[in-house]
Amino acid sequence: MTDLIDSLPADRDLTDDEWRFLIEGEYDRQRLFDRADRVRRQYYGTDVYIRGLIEISSFCRNDCLYCGIRRSNAKAERYRLSKEEIYACCAQGYELGFRTFVLQGGEDAYHTTEWVEEIVCGIKEKYPDCAVTLSLGERPREDYEIWYKAGADRYLLRHETASCSHYEKLHPPEQTFAHRMECLRNLKEIGYQTGAGFMVGSPFQGTGDLIADMRFLREFQPHMVGIGPFIPHHDTPFSNGSPGTLEQTLTMVALTRLTLPHALIPSTTALGTIHPEGRELGLKAGANVVMSNLSPVAVRGQYSLYDNKICIGEEAAECIECMKRRVMAAGYQVAVGRGDHVRMRQ
Ligand code: SAH
Repeated sequence: MTDLIDSLPADRDLTDDEWRFLIEGEYDRQRLFDRADRVRRQYYGTDVYIRGLIEISSFCRNDCLYCGIRRSNAKAERYRLSKEEIYACCAQGYELGFRTFVLQGGEDAYHTTEWVEEIVCGIKEKYPDCAVTLSLGERPREDYEIWYKAGADRYLLRHETASCSHYEKLHPPEQTFAHRMECLRNLKEIGYQTGAGFMVGSPFQGTGDLIADMRFLREFQPHMVGIGPFIPHHDTPFSNGSPGTLEQTLTMVALTRLTLPHALIPSTTALGTIHPEGRELGLKAGANVVMSNLSPVAVRGQYSLYDNKICIGEEAAECIECMKRRVMAAGYQVAVGRGDHVRMRQ
């Protein structure tokens, strides 16, 4: 079966048994990670793209059972950045060399269609050489269209799990799997570089669910895939759950690279949270993007999706220096520029 690893990326869907072996079998994981790294180097060399993450609001109308800023968490501290604060984050980020700004937040009703349209227009006007990525959850197709016309380039909306029955165990009944998937299809049709993704080790997840994730990625062909370990948050129904492991997360990062050789795959903050060198190891297992936090330090701790999140104390300038050091130590280098998907370069 280990010959299978050298045969990846495969031009066919793998069988259940093959997936099962790759995901949970006993074999030398380093071989898989090295294979993924080789494939990543074929398309992206040793470049690592950096994104400046701006967490624009911790208000959320949703109630995802795993998430610390879920509506039902009365203890969550809520904040919302003003447009001026967001522009200030961008100005600082631009100065530091970022050419992609990611605006992420809870699903905050304050963010009307026009409010988001204006901020996207404003950023693109001030920084025409930058990409804007939105990650603001599920919205009507018209909103996505208006924001795309305003200049937004990419949209991140993790599918969280590609198995409907599993999705229903992680979300309340009003948040449906069908709607999340419909949003993803809309985003891709509109023309966004579209990001899907999932948590590894989330409650009730089995190997069959991870196989479904891999098959979904193969079929949907997203441009970006965010993968991080589930990490419990103390004020959620899953507070007693165990976190996803380093090995399992790296395995899924590597298999994602081998399923989508061209994808932009971040080595996530959650991966850096469960292990001090998690992000470096993620890069060595096929990831090629890192995100650095540009949110004002005063509110960083309040965007608390899971416990013990790293990088909540440092100023943006320290973050980027630390990130560059880590990327270099892992054998790669931070690339300047927008860092578009190889097939979506302008
Ligand atoms: N509201 C936006 C942004 C969500 S936060 C949206 O719906 O897309 C970004 C990601 O954080 C989520 O997609 C989820 O995969 C991840 N996340 C949330 N809670 C988490 C937890 N407890 N552990 C690990 N990742 C978590």
